[in-house]
Amino acid sequence: MNTAKNKLPDAGWNFENSYVRLNQHLFTELEPVKVRNPSIYFFNEKLAQELNLDFSKFSSEQLAALFSGNQLPEGAHPIAQAYAGHQFGHFTMLGDGRAILMGEHLDKTGKRWDIQFKGSGRTPYSRGGDGRATLKSMLREYLISEAIHYLGIPSSRSLAVCLTGEAVKREALHKGAVLCRVAKSHIRIGTIELIRNFLTTEDLSEYCTYLIKREYPDLSEAANPPLELLKKIMELQTDLIVNWMRVGFIHGVMNTDNTSLTAETIDYGPCAFMNAYNPNTVFSSIDRTGRYAFGNQARVIQWNIAALAGAMIPIVNDDEEKAIEKVKEVINSFSGMYEEKYYQMMAKKIGIANAGPNDKILINQLLKCMEENALDYTNTFRYLTYKQSIDDQLEIDEFKKWESIWQNRIKIEKRPYELMKATNPSVIPRNHLVEEVLDKAAFEGNPEPMKTFLETLKNPYKELPLDSRYGKAPAGGNGHYQTFCGT
Ligand code: AMP
Ligand code: MG
Repeated sequence: MNTAKNKLPDAGWNFENSYVRLNQHLFTELEPVKVRNPSIYFFNEKLAQELNLDFSKFSSEQLAALFSGNQLPEGAHPIAQAYAGHQFGHFTMLGDGRAILMGEHLDKTGKRWDIQFKGSGRTPYSRGGDGRATLKSMLREYLISEAIHYLGIPSSRSLAVCLTGEAVKREALHKGAVLCRVAKSHIRIGTIELIRNFLTTEDLSEYCTYLIKREYPDLSEAANPPLELLKKIMELQTDLIVNWMRVGFIHGVMNTDNTSLTAETIDYGPCAFMNAYNPNTVFSSIDRTGRYAFGNQARVIQWNIAALAGAMIPIVNDDEEKAIEKVKEVINSFSGMYEEKYYQMMAKKIGIANAGPNDKILINQLLKCMEENALDYTNTFRYLTYKQSIDDQLEIDEFKKWESIWQNRIKIEKRPYELMKATNPSVIPRNHLVEEVLDKAAFEGNPEPMKTFLETLKNPYKELPLDSRYGKAPAGGNGHYQTFCGT
């Protein structure tokens, strides 16, 4: 029952909802489905402050009424967004099947934030789904998205997790929850694909103008804004993937509908962090062919950007052949750009400010040694950075030999260890720790271990005490860990 019928206190919401002024085919206006007995479980006070929101006058009932979707924030204009997408290579019509965009909140600096509720009931895009989410999966998104943010990687953020007081049926009955997530936008490659496939070229052009005005205003003056937009998105997505490669993150389901046009990590589902280095690492139970494996993420983003380019062809040039030529040129420049960014990033992981051709060989030798000996990705670089014997796995001749060559190489670097400290995290959300804290929070009603873990994850570039369990790689490397999609 919705118990908090009274008006909510003023939290400082400053909604300016541009999306609802767009083409009606791009969304459906609807409110979250009300929940029976909401209670707030996780609340991100620090993020609220960053958004210039103040919930100090809210009672816990009022917070729950708000973050369950039972009472709308002042100025909200709730919608479910429509989009399409290529899922595992196959084109499908999609949309927010269990999410409601409340609106766009402007903070004091004028920065725009999508405020979205995930797990908030069925929508016209739900297909066979129930529109709901389990507590464990929403806590998982909260934990990992915050960790990615603190690793310095663009990501949607998590403001709150609210229990619904209702059961969600999966393989068993689970507690239901709503996650309030916050992002620059939830505009996806799939949004453009929807317009290209179902609306007009004029609609496509208007939408790209909207996106440029909203997120990339500098491009509006370009000779060919849609083409520059494509290049910009490719560059930012490349940076994003390189960052994932830096910390061992596997998104797990990089379909075009999960690829943000504002280049943030979004749609946390079967994602996980790799322990032992192996480019073939896949955790997602549905990724049987390894399409979204760790080492395949660059190829996948190129594929996705090609899908975006294909959808944008009519607005790149009136002459289709010329347009195809232009976008091909962009797509073909991906590999060179990625290689360059990837190796420069990897060079920083071993303290080299500017990688030359021999350094690429040095990096590849290290990776080969790590792969062949199943060395822990995070802790190998952590060892090199802090010279603490974190891992006896590293006491092998092959690694020692590499290490002495590397030691010689970095003698000419000015500040190798500073570079490494800024590039190599000491703590990541390792699967066994994630599972442990989530099970306690979701099934035993004990949020404390997750809170403690989150505090550590907020400072990933600070070296941990040697005996910290957060820094230990699990025995058995990646084990048989499996993750699941829309749970
Ligand atoms: P994902 O692969 O998690 O990004 O989800 C793909 C699509 O399935 C999206 O359009 C989601 O909105 C939708 N979806 C996922 N879970 C549910 C659910 N429980 N009910 C309705 N739609 C869902
Ligand atoms: Mg998705």
